[in-house]
Amino acid sequence: MENMTTLINEIIKFRNERDWEQFHNSKDLAVALSVEASELLELFLWKENEDFNIDKLKEELADVLMYALLLANKHDLDIHEIILDKIRKNAEKYPVDKSRGNATKYNEL
Ligand SMILES: [Mg+2]
Repeated sequence: MENMTTLINEIIKFRNERDWEQFHNSKDLAVALSVEASELLELFLWKENEDFNIDKLKEELADVLMYALLLANKHDLDIHEIILDKIRKNAEKYPVDKSRGNATKYNEL
């Protein structure tokens, strides 16, 4: 948790030094996150499954994570708490006995 706070503070510091908070409304942070997720996807486009550049993967993944953290921070969300809540919900949707080794969506289990 300490590390996560340090990380978020580094991102906020970078942003504030450039006076970019004015551009970071919820909609644009969500759009930017999706654009970065698409840049990540592009690394795999027209290639075999594991044929991607690991350095570019690190960069695009970092971009996605930074926008996700900025969006969570904007709404004072606790990353640890929202992820654990979602894991609990997913565990209810995907009981181990029905979903183990099975990639079927929960509504078709
Ligand atoms: Mg990028």
